[in-house]
Amino acid sequence: VKVTVDQDICQGHARCAVIAPELFVLDDMGHSQEVGGEVPKELEAAAERAATNCPEGAIKLS
Ligand code: SF4
Repeated sequence: VKVTVDQDICQGHARCAVIAPELFVLDDMGHSQEVGGEVPKELEAAAERAATNCPEGAIKLS
């Protein structure tokens, strides 16, 4: 599983980084970017939680 953040949609609520700090980094404006690469098995549930809790629906799992 990989996570991606759509930069055009992200509004910088930073919820994803609170839920899964291992998977997202925030820029100076609080916008999120995925750390990248394959999500470790033990973080898959957190990745799904982050995607579900993003108010903008900016996080995709593939
Ligand atoms: S929760 Fe969604 S909108 Fe907020 S920073 Fe994360 S990806 Fe962006």
